[in-house]
Amino acid sequence: MKNKLKDFLREDISNIKEYEVLDPEGMIKLDAMENPFDVDLKFESESILANKVNINRYPDGACKNLIKKLRVSHNLKSNFNILVGNGSDELIQILCMAFSKKDNTVLCPQPTFSMYKSIADLVGLNFQAVPLKNDFSLNINKMLNDIKQTDPALIFLAYPNNPTANLWDRNNIKKVLENTNGLVVIDEAYGAFSGESFLNDIDKYENLAVMKTFSKVGLAGLRLGYLMAEKSLIKELNKIRLPFNVNSLSQKIAEIALDNKDYLDKQSKEIIGLRERLLKQMLKVKEIEVYNSSTNFILFKIKNGSADEIFNKLLKDKILIKNMSKTESLKDYLRVTVGTEKDNNIFIQSLKNALN
Ligand code: PMP
Repeated sequence: MKNKLKDFLREDISNIKEYEVLDPEGMIKLDAMENPFDVDLKFESESILANKVNINRYPDGACKNLIKKLRVSHNLKSNFNILVGNGSDELIQILCMAFSKKDNTVLCPQPTFSMYKSIADLVGLNFQAVPLKNDFSLNINKMLNDIKQTDPALIFLAYPNNPTANLWDRNNIKKVLENTNGLVVIDEAYGAFSGESFLNDIDKYENLAVMKTFSKVGLAGLRLGYLMAEKSLIKELNKIRLPFNVNSLSQKIAEIALDNKDYLDKQSKEIIGLRERLLKQMLKVKEIEVYNSSTNFILFKIKNGSADEIFNKLLKDKILIKNMSKTESLKDYLRVTVGTEKDNNIFIQSLKNALN
C-alpha cells in the first residue's frame, strides 16, 4: 500500500487482529456452534424457486413477511417491533453505531462473545469488562458498582454465555436491568438449547431488548439475526441499517423455516441429547475439567498441559475445535461444538489419544 494511502487509514485499524477463521476444508467441523445436520429438502432450491423469489428485484428492506411470521412465532405484543440483521453480528454493529456518542460506554461480563468488544472499539465506544467469577457466574456486586461508575449506554449479556456455556442467575440479570440507565441486550443466540428466555419480561423493563439468531438452529449460512425491542427504539435503529441489509433468498428461506418450525426445533432437541451424551463422555476423561452446558458447545480445560498442544494434535486428526487459550482468563481452555454422534465419538477418541 502507498505510504500516502496508509496515512489516510485510521491508525487503530493496523492494531486490530483479523477475526480468525481456520480453513475447515476436509475437517470434522466442531468449531463454530453450527447445527451439524443437513437441512431437509423443503428448505432447498426447488422450494425457493417454487416460492418465486424475484432476484432481479431488491429485497424487501423492511422484511415485512419475515417479521410478521417472527411476531406470531414469538407472540410479540404490538408495542414491540423487530429489527432483522445480516446475522446478529450486524445487529451488534447497528446498536454500537447508534449509541456511539462521545464518552459512551459498553459494558459486558468477561469472557464473553468477542464481537461486543471488537465492534465497540471500532466505533469508538469505551468498553468496560467485568470479569466473571471463577465458576463463570456474574460478579453482580462488581457489575452493579461498575454500572454506577461508568453509566453504560449499552450492556450485552449473552444468555447463555459464549464461551462459558452457562446461564446466569435470572435475579442477577434483573438487578442489572433495574440498576442501569442504558439498554440491556439479552443475546439469546443459544436459547434453543437452554429453554430459557427473557422475552416474557420484555414489557416489564423499558430498557430490555432480546436478540436471537437463526445461525445456531440450522441456518448459519443465511446470516439472519433479529432484535426485539420497544417500537420507538427499533424505529431509530432502522434508520441506520443499510437499506437492503438482508437478501431476498435468506428472507424467504427463513420464512419457510418458520412455517416448518417443528422440524428445526426437533433438531435442536436432538442436539441437546447429543450434548448430554458428549458431556457424560467428557466427564470421564480425568485429564480435563469439563463445564456444564446450556448451549450446543462445551468448554473444557486441559488440567496439566497445554491447550495449544491438544488443539494441534486434534487438527492433525482433522478435527477442528476452538482454541480459547488467547482469551484472557481462558488459558488452556478449549471449546468443542456438539456434532453428530459419529463426529462426537471421533472427537472423544482423538482427545483421549492426544492427552496420553
Ligand atoms: N451472539 C453470540 C453469543 C454468539 O456466540 C454469536 C456467534 N458465535 C453471535 C451472537 C453471532 O451470531 P450470528 O451468526 O447471528 O451473527
